[in-house]
Amino acid sequence: MTTDTLEKTESLRTGTDTLCYAGQWILKTDENSLDNIPDEFATPIHKIRTKTILNSANKLEYLSLILVYLITNKRNVLDCEYCYFVDRTFNRVSEMDFITGNIDDDKENLLIAEISCHYGDEMWNRSNEEVFSSCVKDLNEDNLLKKEDILAHEIIKMPSVYPIYRTDYKTHLEETKKYFFKINNFFSIGRQGQFYYGDSDQMIRFGFDTADKIIKQ
Ligand SMILES: Cc1cc2nc3c(=O)[nH]c(=O)nc-3n(C[C@H](O)[C@H](O)[C@H](O)COP(=O)(O)OP(=O)(O)OC[C@H]3O[C@@H](n4cnc5c(N)ncnc54)[C@H](O)[C@@H]3O)c2cc1C
Repeated sequence: MTTDTLEKTESLRTGTDTLCYAGQWILKTDENSLDNIPDEFATPIHKIRTKTILNSANKLEYLSLILVYLITNKRNVLDCEYCYFVDRTFNRVSEMDFITGNIDDDKENLLIAEISCHYGDEMWNRSNEEVFSSCVKDLNEDNLLKKEDILAHEIIKMPSVYPIYRTDYKTHLEETKKYFFKINNFFSIGRQGQFYYGDSDQMIRFGFDTADKIIKQ
């Protein structure tokens, strides 16, 4: 855990502070080290002794996402806002000109290729250059974009993005929520913190509602 997280955890345990947490539920304890998970991804609660909650929370898995940002001098690549793909490196590409309504010919265009994968799998472990080359190859083969059309690129990897709704997820979700509800000054919120595939407006509403709840406490 980072120093900042440790401080927050300490004040939470002594009851002097309230913590709103919007990340994935990854519970680490001294006994359960989950070595493959970096400490900064762990939920800032420690000393968990109940086996059921450990078992349940850690069974709620998320798909990871790699975002490949491509700044291009080519306009109108997709002829639409979003396009979905199968059998390609990416599963969706969005074109910002169509989303932002940019019609200024002097401005560059921005495309975002999305690659969903599992944390630590072969795709996740590829280097940024490998991911970029593979995307460019597919875009080129589909006659959408050539390498020389790309002025710059940036890659961001996010470990927990889309909740995976397995057949037994409801049982594990209920167990996990029951546990967290018992901690008065800990609020698990947001998409990851609720294991809920929601949109921005729903998460903002939930944030406001949680703030009201905290004020009333
Ligand atoms: C590719 C994509 C496209 C989307 N398009 C749309 C759309 O068009 N319209 C729409 O309404 N919604 C869209 N969504 C959904 C929307 O992005 C989410 O609903 C919204 O961002 C969720 O907000 P949040 O605050 O719950 O989580 P986030 O925005 O993910 O914020 C959580 C924050 O917590 C941080 N965090 C995580 N773990 C820890 C930790 N251990 N310690 C400290 N910080 C931590 C993260 O870094 C992050 O900054 C899209 C999502 C994706 C992935």
